Amino acid sequence: MRGAVLYGPRDVRVEERPDPTIIEPTDAIIRLPATCVCGSDLWPYRGIEPISAPTPMGHEYVGVVEEVGSAVKNIKPGQFVVGSFFASDNTCPICQAGYQSRCVHAELMGEIGTQAQFARIPLADGTLVATPDIPPDDLIPSLLAASDVLGAGWFGAVAAEAGPGKTVAVVGDGAVGLLAVLAAKQLGAERIIAMSRHEPRQRLAREFGATDIVTERGDEGVARIKDMTDRLGAHSVVEAVGTQESMMQAIRSTRPGGHVGYVGVSHGVELPGEELFFAEVHLLGGPAPVRRFLPNLIDLIWNRKITPGKVFDLELPLEQAAEGYRAMDERRAIKTLLKC
Ligand SMILES: [Zn+2]
Repeated sequence: MRGAVLYGPRDVRVEERPDPTIIEPTDAIIRLPATCVCGSDLWPYRGIEPISAPTPMGHEYVGVVEEVGSAVKNIKPGQFVVGSFFASDNTCPICQAGYQSRCVHAELMGEIGTQAQFARIPLADGTLVATPDIPPDDLIPSLLAASDVLGAGWFGAVAAEAGPGKTVAVVGDGAVGLLAVLAAKQLGAERIIAMSRHEPRQRLAREFGATDIVTERGDEGVARIKDMTDRLGAHSVVEAVGTQESMMQAIRSTRPGGHVGYVGVSHGVELPGEELFFAEVHLLGGPAPVRRFLPNLIDLIWNRKITPGKVFDLELPLEQAAEGYRAMDERRAIKTLLKC
């Protein structure tokens, strides 16, 4: 099969990789109609997360089940399925509590590399959710978004306790931040402030439900949020970047007693204890337990209540994955879809 492999900083190649096979009896093999590049793939792409050997890339996926292992009971060949970037058994106490991304048997799909024509999905019964039928082509981008960026934005909004009567601020205008705006809207938030300085992303944020745009960042961004909220700060703030600046911007934009949902993959963030102590805010974040939300997200997409696939503003054949990465690295694209 063809698949994307990272050789070093800014060196992505599409090459022949071995077809995946059933290794564990709980595995499934899927054929992907399309795959995509994640903002978090840019960390190794830029060399910020160094790699020691050529590395298959990708952790987002949807597809048709080709084959299942002997212990797979619920997932069947021929079904169209969506799964999360963490495989999970969905039965252990951590999964049962809704934190499938930290399942005691969790396996990171990034180690499998789903920017490819086929993928092996571990713990298929726990990980995969089947759609009601084979989806029409126009739903595939939205279902693919559910695999990670929609689920992550949704978790950020849920962790920030976005809901009726709440003012929600979103730090970060990548796909996850934009979809946190969509999630906040779906969860009934009253006012949704997208923090973005890029005009096309502001437009999409408004389409997804943002009521206000703040272009300032850092302390100036915090001051703007305070100005808009009677000096109190937002009830709910989603952090969708993962840097020191964005995390502090999120915490400082939140009112005492408010909630921060942080879903940007943390890189070098250190929280000052004394400031945290007196901020008196709730903090919840981490790798999103996308599996918790998938049945609801699939239902919303299937019934055309939401169109998260709009975050894909560049579509290329898998063979041109390198250009897909480049466009995102240079912020020419929000998110790249790769047709397999
Ligand atoms: Zn589990």
